[in-house]
Amino acid sequence: KSFHSRASWSSDSESDSSGAECLYRVVLLGDHGVGKSSLANIFAGIQEKDAHKHIEEDTYERTLAVDGEETTLVVMDTWETEKQEEDEKWVQDYCMQVGSAYIIVYSITDHSSFESASELRIQLRRIRQAENIPIILVGNKSDLVRSREVAVEEGRACAVVFDCKFIETSASLHHNVHELFEGIVRQIRLRRDSKEI
Ligand code: GDP
Ligand code: MG
Repeated sequence: KSFHSRASWSSDSESDSSGAECLYRVVLLGDHGVGKSSLANIFAGIQEKDAHKHIEEDTYERTLAVDGEETTLVVMDTWETEKQEEDEKWVQDYCMQVGSAYIIVYSITDHSSFESASELRIQLRRIRQAENIPIILVGNKSDLVRSREVAVEEGRACAVVFDCKFIETSASLHHNVHELFEGIVRQIRLRRDSKEI
C-alpha cells in the first residue's frame, strides 16, 4: 500500500526541488466519478482490463522524458478514501499539504463537479498561500459530447480567473492524457528554473 505508515507522511523531503534526484508529488483532486483513477491508471500504464489487479494501489511513480530531460512524478490518487470520515478529513488535509503540483479534475458532463473544482482551487490557494504551486484544471470525459454540461470556454475562463493551466482530456480515448502529464512536468520546471538565479 502506498501510505506505508502515518509516521512517514510528515516527511516532505522528496518533494524538495533542490538536488538532482528529486521526485515531484502530483496530487489528483476532484469529485467522485470524474475520472481521477482513470487518468492515474493511464499515467501508470495500467490497462483497463488489468485495473482490478491494482485495487490497492493509489500512488504511481514514473519517470517521464520531456523535452530531452527526465523527471520523476509520483502521482497520488489518494483524495478519495473508503475509510471512515475522520480518516478522510486527515487524508484530504494531507493531500492539500503534500503536493508539488495539483491536477484538479472535473467532468464536462457534470456541472456540479466543475463547481467543486473551483472550490478545491480556492481551498488550495488558502492552504498553500505563499507558494506558487503548479495547477492544471482538467475537464475530463471530452468524448461525451452529447452530455456536455460545461463548455470549453467556461473551463478556460475559470482557469484564467484561477491563474492555472487548462486542458480537456478523455481518459476513455486516451486523448490529451500524456499532454496533461507533460504539461505538469513543464509547469514544475518553470517554477524550479525561476527559483535558480
Ligand atoms: P474517479 O472517481 O474520479 O476516480 O473516477 P474513475 O476514474 O473511477 O471514473 C469514473 C467512471 O467514469 C468510470 O466508469 C470510468 O470508466 C468513467 N470515465 C473516466 N474517464 C472517462 C472519460 O474520459 N470518458 C468517459 N466516457 N468515461 C470516463
Ligand atoms: Mg477513483
